Amino acid sequence: MPRLVMKFGGTSVATVERIRNVARHVRREVEAGYDVAVVVSAMAGKTNELVAWCKEAAPFYDPKEYDVVVASGEQVTSGLLAMVLQNDGLPARSWQGWQIPIHTSDQHGSARIAAIDGSAILDAFRERREVAVVAGFQGVNPETGRVATLGRGGSDTSAVALAAALGAERCDIYTDVDGVYTTDPRIVTKARRLDRVAFEEMLEMASLGAKVLQVRSVELAMLYRVPTYVRSSFDDPADPKPGTLICDEEDIVEQSVVTGIAFSKDEAQITLRRVADKPGVAAAIFGPLADQNVNVDMIIQVVSDDQASTDITFTVPAADYERSRAILEENRDRIGLHEIQGATDVVKVSAIGVGMRSHAGVASRAFRALAEKGINIRAITTSEIKFSILIDAAYTELAVRTLHSLYGLDKA
Ligand code: ADP
Ligand code: ASP
Ligand code: MG
Repeated sequence: MPRLVMKFGGTSVATVERIRNVARHVRREVEAGYDVAVVVSAMAGKTNELVAWCKEAAPFYDPKEYDVVVASGEQVTSGLLAMVLQNDGLPARSWQGWQIPIHTSDQHGSARIAAIDGSAILDAFRERREVAVVAGFQGVNPETGRVATLGRGGSDTSAVALAAALGAERCDIYTDVDGVYTTDPRIVTKARRLDRVAFEEMLEMASLGAKVLQVRSVELAMLYRVPTYVRSSFDDPADPKPGTLICDEEDIVEQSVVTGIAFSKDEAQITLRRVADKPGVAAAIFGPLADQNVNVDMIIQVVSDDQASTDITFTVPAADYERSRAILEENRDRIGLHEIQGATDVVKVSAIGVGMRSHAGVASRAFRALAEKGINIRAITTSEIKFSILIDAAYTELAVRTLHSLYGLDKA
């Protein structure tokens, strides 16, 4: 029998009634002749609630215990879906990450999958055609035996990794939108659904803020060549639409220069004023930040007038903002700076498209269009298939809409 992995996100399993709807989608695929593994997320809002409880329990909580708490949301939905399927007459059982097992690294809270042993699930397919209902987002570290979670949105990664491990024909990611759009359809009503997106583009879109897929899931889909579809669980289970296929660039016939616009509010800006303009200063700033695992993104150094001092602006993840400022304060004398300034009300807006490789001047058109709207650009970065700008958060929607129209992405 061919195998299939289906993944259902939080909104799709938000109530027992919706879990019944998920069971209808599963039944359709079983009846079509697939052996099915279903990966489920926690009910919508559950993981946020669990995270808040951890913070309330202890300000500096043990990350291993955090994982014990937050992994519980997926345990509930996996058991509930298995019950509903059984009640409908389909053989099914739930699997927690440690039972399969899904082995992970020991970075609690953002662990990576190291290996999956699919043999027990495959035995159950062969012997009983039993649907495997797998708790997403979680695994176990084999050295310590402790439960570990894969970072927010990690059930997508559970699903793609499982599809690779089971040799599934494809991985279907069911969510609350019917595919990948040119930008977040909740922000821009003119966003268009894409039939296909190249792996590289999806990777950039996810990294740059499109939360529809976890970045790591796209990496795995690309690495193991898992045909992955993003589709809607709210489609009629009897007549579902295919959604968006994430695939090789060569498999896309009509390629536009820009495929999508993404934005991320998880950014903060730090500016160091009057930094000594001498060799080794960049190392003195960014070395200590890297040592503390702060991921610095955009960097701008202004050419100084006086040859003695300069200003340096860069961005860090918003969650690391306070910590980064503290690290810089500690190293103030070594760096030799006058003042540390910062802003958290900023957003990074990015345009992505493999077509940028062969087209010049794509970004400069954006700078002009944004200037015409009175939007000030604080920082810019570019790479082969994307460019990003940092702007005031208040202009997010205006900037995203402006770029979306500029590159001809608005739906007719
Ligand atoms: P799930 O709970 O199913 O994992 P998520 O909330 O993680 O769902 O991801 C789906 C959401 O991603 C959509 O509701 C949509 O608002 C958002 N999103 C952001 N960018 C995009 C995009 N380019 N295409 C589709 N959805 C997007
Ligand atoms: N429940 C987890 C989260 O909210 C994992 C997921 O939904 O993918 O981040
Ligand atoms: Mg998600």
